[in-house]
Amino acid sequence: MTIQPALPVGEGMPVGLPASTGRQRTRCDLRGRIRPFALALSLLPAAMAGVVPEASAQQSAVPAVEAADGAAQAAVAATVAYDGMLEVADGETALLLKFDGKPDYRLFFMDRPDRLVLEFNNITLGFDPEFASNAGGLIRQLRFGSITNDRSRLVVALSAAAEIRQQVLEADAETGRYSLRLSLGEIEQGVFSQRVAEQQALLGASGEAVVKGGRVRGGPKREGYFTIVLDPGHGGIDGGAEGRTTKVAEKDVTLAVSRQLGPMLEKAGPFHIAYTRDDDVFVSLRERQAVARRENADLMVSIHADALRQNYVRGATIYTLADKASDALAQEVADSENLADVVAGLAAPNETDIVTDILADLTLRETTHFSRAFSLMLVRKMRDRVNLINNPQRAASFAVLKNAEVPSVLLELGYLSNNEDEHLMADPDWQSKVAGIVSEAVVEFFAGRQPRSTGN
Ligand SMILES: [Zn+2]
Repeated sequence: MTIQPALPVGEGMPVGLPASTGRQRTRCDLRGRIRPFALALSLLPAAMAGVVPEASAQQSAVPAVEAADGAAQAAVAATVAYDGMLEVADGETALLLKFDGKPDYRLFFMDRPDRLVLEFNNITLGFDPEFASNAGGLIRQLRFGSITNDRSRLVVALSAAAEIRQQVLEADAETGRYSLRLSLGEIEQGVFSQRVAEQQALLGASGEAVVKGGRVRGGPKREGYFTIVLDPGHGGIDGGAEGRTTKVAEKDVTLAVSRQLGPMLEKAGPFHIAYTRDDDVFVSLRERQAVARRENADLMVSIHADALRQNYVRGATIYTLADKASDALAQEVADSENLADVVAGLAAPNETDIVTDILADLTLRETTHFSRAFSLMLVRKMRDRVNLINNPQRAASFAVLKNAEVPSVLLELGYLSNNEDEHLMADPDWQSKVAGIVSEAVVEFFAGRQPRSTGN
């Protein structure tokens, strides 16, 4: 079945095309690179089969679009998405997006939880932040932000299984601007899940193949050095928690502390530092683990600053991996952290990737023992110098810690849901103080240990 979404013709002027048609030609390459994106898009018509059922095809539109592209290529700057709106009326939910040029995008659905993902190529998302606070009709929540350097996403969390009833991309010949209108209609959950499964078979789970994670920084490892991977939580489209009064984003707090900690460690001892991200970019949980393995790290420290429902709870917590959570709060934090990929439009953590299986592994037992020993050291160093939660050493099934080879801990600096914690964590002096304490703990922990040989 071939899908031809509606192509309205605006008074004989160039009109837009659906994302699935003619893309290879339209955005070919201002910089002479071949875009893998084009390949994914060529799969899309089949992938979207059944998802865009109503069609009024007008093939005659194609030549006009090439004319519009000539104009677009004259301006090399990325297209800007400058406005977004949600329209809910009479059982119809529609999303209206405006661009200052022709948008290069693709659409796909995901389930558990049900989402529609719009992935943009080379488009700056200049939506008003207020746009994200929209909800209504079939749309439960909107999130948008960067995924990689040149890709960004608008992740639309659905309140019920849905399909795209109509997709209309229109060009304004005078201004060169485009508007995209997607209207959604509810469908049965079973049908939705079936379509998602078919689409994933074609595109790869959640388009995850397309999201290869952020850039990894750090020079080559030197003989006689311990490798420490710093993992600032969240980033890009996934902002993490947000402070209530300061509006500080968790992703910024975690990055700020990591940026202070890295150089402190490099100065303090034979430490080679690598970062899962050193910028405001999205990195999947899987990619974070992969960085630690690739670097053959001696220790990975994930840094977070989450929010809890209980706003009276405050203080730092050090988490290690366990198949069963040490307590309900630890479970809640792990559940929330494990959603990071979902927020960015990736698949939910794989249930077959259950930690119980690998806990039987002897390597992991050793790794877990090492992780726990480091968490004890960190608690000891922090005590009396920063606020700690009651029982600061906790454990739960954090996806990012599921790494049989690399000892890993997750440090919650505090909780952004707590007013005092929020103000402290937003303060660069406090960030520096905590980085200093973590650095001390790492130095003392590795003192007397022998670095592993780099082996090559
Ligand atoms: Zn977090």
